[in-house]
Amino acid sequence: MRIYVDFDDCLCETGRSFARLAAELFGRDVPYGEMRFFEMDKTFGLNCEQFELLMARGHEPETLLSYEETPGAACTVSEWISCGHQVSVVTGRPFSAYEPSRRWLDAHGLQRAGLYCLDKYGRETSVKSSDFCLTPEDCRRMRFDFAVEDSPRAFGLFSGLPDLRVLVFDRPWNRDCGFPNGNFTRCFGWEDIRRIVAGRA
Ligand SMILES: [Mg+2]
Repeated sequence: MRIYVDFDDCLCETGRSFARLAAELFGRDVPYGEMRFFEMDKTFGLNCEQFELLMARGHEPETLLSYEETPGAACTVSEWISCGHQVSVVTGRPFSAYEPSRRWLDAHGLQRAGLYCLDKYGRETSVKSSDFCLTPEDCRRMRFDFAVEDSPRAFGLFSGLPDLRVLVFDRPWNRDCGFPNGNFTRCFGWEDIRRIVAGRA
Protein backbone atom coordinates (compact mmCIF):
# COMPACT_ATOMS: atom_id res chain seq x y z
CA MET A 1 0.00 0.00 0.00
CA ARG A 2 0.98 3.60 -0.43
CA ILE A 3 0.72 5.70 2.69
CA TYR A 4 0.92 9.49 3.09
CA VAL A 5 2.04 10.66 6.51
CA ASP A 6 2.04 14.30 7.52
CA PHE A 7 5.03 15.38 9.62
CA ASP A 8 3.99 17.99 12.21
CA ASP A 9 1.63 16.75 14.89
CA CYS A 10 1.50 13.31 13.33
CA LEU A 11 5.13 12.18 13.62
CA CYS A 12 6.18 14.78 16.17
CA GLU A 13 4.78 17.14 18.77
CA THR A 14 5.10 20.44 16.92
CA GLY A 15 2.04 22.13 18.43
CA ARG A 16 3.39 21.67 21.95
CA SER A 17 6.73 23.16 20.88
CA PHE A 18 5.04 26.16 19.30
CA ALA A 19 3.05 26.69 22.50
CA ARG A 20 6.33 26.82 24.46
CA LEU A 21 7.87 29.19 21.89
CA ALA A 22 4.87 31.55 21.94
CA ALA A 23 5.08 31.72 25.73
CA GLU A 24 8.82 32.36 25.60
CA LEU A 25 8.73 34.97 22.81
CA PHE A 26 5.49 36.84 23.51
CA GLY A 27 4.32 35.69 26.93
CA ARG A 28 1.24 34.07 25.35
CA ASP A 29 0.40 31.19 27.61
CA VAL A 30 -2.06 28.99 25.76
CA PRO A 31 -2.02 25.41 27.04
CA TYR A 32 -1.84 22.72 24.36
CA GLY A 33 -5.38 21.51 25.10
CA GLU A 34 -6.73 24.98 24.38
CA MET A 35 -5.12 25.37 20.95
CA ARG A 36 -8.45 25.40 19.15
CA PHE A 37 -7.25 26.83 15.83
CA PHE A 38 -4.78 25.44 13.33
CA GLU A 39 -3.78 29.01 12.54
CA MET A 40 -1.13 29.90 15.15
CA ASP A 41 -1.69 33.66 14.83
CA LYS A 42 -5.32 33.11 15.86
CA THR A 43 -4.44 30.65 18.62
CA PHE A 44 -1.86 32.93 20.24
CA GLY A 45 -3.36 36.31 19.25
CA LEU A 46 -0.32 37.40 17.21
CA ASN A 47 0.08 40.18 14.69
CA CYS A 48 1.72 39.51 11.30
CA GLU A 49 5.20 40.39 12.51
CA GLN A 50 4.94 38.18 15.59
CA PHE A 51 3.56 35.33 13.51
CA GLU A 52 6.48 35.60 11.07
CA LEU A 53 8.94 35.51 13.96
CA LEU A 54 7.23 32.49 15.52
CA MET A 55 7.31 30.61 12.21
CA ALA A 56 10.95 31.52 11.60
CA ARG A 57 12.01 30.37 15.07
CA GLY A 58 9.90 27.21 14.86
CA HIS A 59 11.56 26.24 11.58
CA GLU A 60 15.18 26.82 12.59
CA PRO A 61 17.16 23.58 12.15
CA GLU A 62 17.97 23.11 15.83
CA THR A 63 14.32 23.70 16.77
CA LEU A 64 13.07 21.23 14.15
CA LEU A 65 15.56 18.63 15.32
CA SER A 66 14.39 19.01 18.90
CA TYR A 67 10.75 18.11 18.25
CA GLU A 68 9.67 15.13 20.28
CA GLU A 69 8.41 12.06 18.52
CA THR A 70 4.70 11.35 18.88
CA PRO A 71 4.51 8.07 20.82
CA GLY A 72 4.43 5.05 18.52
CA ALA A 73 5.04 6.99 15.29
CA ALA A 74 8.49 5.77 14.30
CA CYS A 75 7.95 2.10 15.14
CA THR A 76 4.63 2.00 13.27
CA VAL A 77 6.07 3.63 10.15
CA SER A 78 9.14 1.36 10.28
CA GLU A 79 6.93 -1.68 10.58
CA TRP A 80 4.89 -0.59 7.52
CA ILE A 81 8.05 -0.16 5.47
CA SER A 82 9.34 -3.56 6.58
CA CYS A 83 6.03 -5.06 5.46
CA GLY A 84 6.59 -3.60 1.97
CA HIS A 85 4.33 -0.55 2.21
CA GLN A 86 5.58 2.62 0.60
CA VAL A 87 5.56 5.51 3.08
CA SER A 88 5.85 9.13 1.95
CA VAL A 89 6.10 11.85 4.55
CA VAL A 90 4.42 14.87 2.95
CA THR A 91 5.05 18.02 4.92
CA GLY A 92 3.71 21.55 4.63
CA ARG A 93 6.91 22.89 6.20
CA PRO A 94 8.78 25.47 4.13
CA PHE A 95 10.99 24.01 1.43
CA SER A 96 13.98 25.39 3.33
CA ALA A 97 13.17 22.98 6.18
CA TYR A 98 13.81 19.91 4.03
CA GLU A 99 17.35 19.08 5.26
CA PRO A 100 16.70 19.22 9.02
CA SER A 101 13.42 17.38 8.48
CA ARG A 102 15.29 14.63 6.65
CA ARG A 103 17.79 14.51 9.51
CA TRP A 104 15.00 14.16 12.08
CA LEU A 105 13.54 11.20 10.17
CA ASP A 106 16.94 9.54 9.83
CA ALA A 107 17.69 10.07 13.53
CA HIS A 108 14.42 8.30 14.35
CA GLY A 109 15.21 5.25 12.21
CA LEU A 110 13.07 6.36 9.26
CA GLN A 111 15.77 6.48 6.57
CA ARG A 112 13.56 4.43 4.27
CA ALA A 113 10.61 6.85 4.38
CA GLY A 114 10.34 9.29 1.49
CA LEU A 115 10.14 12.99 2.35
CA TYR A 116 8.38 15.60 0.24
CA CYS A 117 7.47 19.24 0.70
CA LEU A 118 4.11 20.47 -0.49
CA ASP A 119 2.98 24.05 0.04
CA LYS A 120 -0.25 23.02 1.78
CA TYR A 121 -0.94 26.44 3.28
CA GLY A 122 0.08 28.86 0.54
CA ARG A 123 3.12 30.09 2.47
CA GLU A 124 5.79 29.81 -0.22
CA THR A 125 6.43 32.85 -2.37
CA SER A 126 8.13 31.04 -5.25
CA VAL A 127 7.69 27.73 -7.01
CA LYS A 128 10.57 25.31 -6.50
CA SER A 129 11.37 22.46 -8.82
CA SER A 130 13.39 20.05 -6.68
CA ASP A 131 12.83 16.32 -6.59
CA PHE A 132 11.37 16.69 -3.13
CA CYS A 133 8.81 19.44 -3.93
CA LEU A 134 5.31 18.32 -4.82
CA THR A 135 2.34 20.15 -6.28
CA PRO A 136 -1.15 19.08 -5.16
CA GLU A 137 -1.47 17.39 -8.56
CA ASP A 138 1.76 15.40 -8.01
CA CYS A 139 0.35 14.31 -4.67
CA ARG A 140 -2.88 13.04 -6.25
CA ARG A 141 -0.93 11.11 -8.84
CA MET A 142 0.87 9.23 -6.05
CA ARG A 143 -2.40 7.30 -5.51
CA PHE A 144 -2.20 6.89 -1.78
CA ASP A 145 -4.36 4.28 -0.06
CA PHE A 146 -4.15 6.00 3.33
CA ALA A 147 -3.32 9.50 4.50
CA VAL A 148 -2.46 10.39 8.10
CA GLU A 149 -3.06 14.12 8.58
CA ASP A 150 -4.05 16.48 11.42
CA SER A 151 -4.71 19.73 9.61
CA PRO A 152 -8.22 20.61 8.43
CA ARG A 153 -6.55 23.03 6.01
CA ALA A 154 -4.97 20.10 4.18
CA PHE A 155 -8.21 18.15 3.72
CA GLY A 156 -8.82 19.75 0.31
CA LEU A 157 -5.84 17.79 -1.02
CA PHE A 158 -7.86 14.61 -0.63
CA SER A 159 -11.04 15.67 -2.41
CA GLY A 160 -12.10 13.62 -5.42
CA LEU A 161 -10.14 10.57 -4.26
CA PRO A 162 -12.89 8.09 -3.37
CA ASP A 163 -10.51 5.20 -2.61
CA LEU A 164 -8.34 7.13 -0.16
CA ARG A 165 -8.95 6.70 3.57
CA VAL A 166 -7.93 9.70 5.61
CA LEU A 167 -6.91 9.03 9.22
CA VAL A 168 -7.24 12.29 11.09
CA PHE A 169 -4.84 12.48 14.01
CA ASP A 170 -6.92 13.88 16.86
CA ARG A 171 -5.63 17.30 17.96
CA PRO A 172 -7.36 20.19 19.77
CA TRP A 173 -7.41 22.26 16.55
CA ASN A 174 -9.30 19.67 14.54
CA ARG A 175 -11.92 18.67 17.12
CA ASP A 176 -14.58 21.08 15.90
CA CYS A 177 -14.12 20.54 12.19
CA GLY A 178 -16.55 18.50 10.13
CA PHE A 179 -15.20 15.82 7.84
CA PRO A 180 -15.94 16.17 4.12
CA ASN A 181 -17.10 12.57 3.71
CA GLY A 182 -17.18 9.09 5.23
CA ASN A 183 -13.61 8.32 4.15
CA PHE A 184 -12.31 10.36 7.09
CA THR A 185 -11.78 8.66 10.47
CA ARG A 186 -10.63 10.30 13.68
CA CYS A 187 -7.72 8.44 15.30
CA PHE A 188 -6.55 8.91 18.87
CA GLY A 189 -2.96 7.82 18.45
CA TRP A 190 -0.64 5.57 16.49
CA GLU A 191 -2.07 2.37 17.96
CA ASP A 192 -5.44 3.31 16.42
CA ILE A 193 -3.81 4.12 13.08
CA ARG A 194 -1.80 0.92 13.10
CA ARG A 195 -4.90 -1.18 13.75
CA ILE A 196 -6.93 0.44 10.96
CA VAL A 197 -4.15 0.05 8.38
CA ALA A 198 -3.54 -3.57 9.46
CA GLY A 199 -7.23 -4.26 8.92
CA ARG A 200 -6.88 -3.33 5.26
CA ALA A 201 -3.45 -4.86 4.61
MG1 LIG B 1 0.44 18.50 10.60
